[in-house]
Amino acid sequence: MDMLAQISSEVSQGVEANKTAQATGRAAEVATSSSEIRQLQDQVARLQIGTEAMWRLLSEPLGFTDQHLFDVIEALDKSDGTKDGRFMPAPVSCSCGAAINAAAEKCQFCGTETDRRKVF
Ligand SMILES: [Zn+2]
Repeated sequence: MDMLAQISSEVSQGVEANKTAQATGRAAEVATSSSEIRQLQDQVARLQIGTEAMWRLLSEPLGFTDQHLFDVIEALDKSDGTKDGRFMPAPVSCSCGAAINAAAEKCQFCGTETDRRKVF
């Protein structure tokens, strides 16, 4: 085999090895994503059944109806400034000048803890 043929063969082998590595990497990414999706689905299902159980425990003895719940949900939804089916409170300003995400318990830049108390 002359030099050119040998280089061409080695390049072809390298290209094939790279394709195999990429396919293996993609398969691993898909498997990881699928696992994460299943975990999130399980978490949503647990939250859903917990929410339903809490609603049943509280609504009947306290006399609340589904309409009461819809009204509170709509009020919460609108309270963050956007009626979009979500409750996303606005970030607060930290003493360091950074905006602290509503879901965070402390500033991601300086570590200052917020004074917000969160149930969830
Ligand atoms: Zn800060």
